[in-house]
Amino acid sequence: MTLPQLQTLADELKQLWKLSNWAVTVKWMPEEQQEVKGTVYWGRCNWEGNNETADIEINPNQSSKAMRHTLYHEMVHLRLEGHNCDSFYERGIDLIAGELCQ
Ligand SMILES: [Zn+2]
Repeated sequence: MTLPQLQTLADELKQLWKLSNWAVTVKWMPEEQQEVKGTVYWGRCNWEGNNETADIEINPNQSSKAMRHTLYHEMVHLRLEGHNCDSFYERGIDLIAGELCQ
């Protein structure tokens, strides 16, 4: 997928998921952040709840299908407005994202 395609999808999900007040910008993840201490990151969502702005970074080194899944994953995070490093929580997010992006 291209960045404009990912941005279009994010804009569509914003409308569908009651996030239309948010300014969501999709970006490619900088190369130095794609792998940190041996862990590969496929996506990242940085948001400012007070300003309702979010940057979603997508690792470009994945298939289009995987990018789509990653975008859904990060958008689910935004919808829930919660993020932590709990692996069960992450798996739950990922399962939901996987089902939604079918
Ligand atoms: Zn996550």
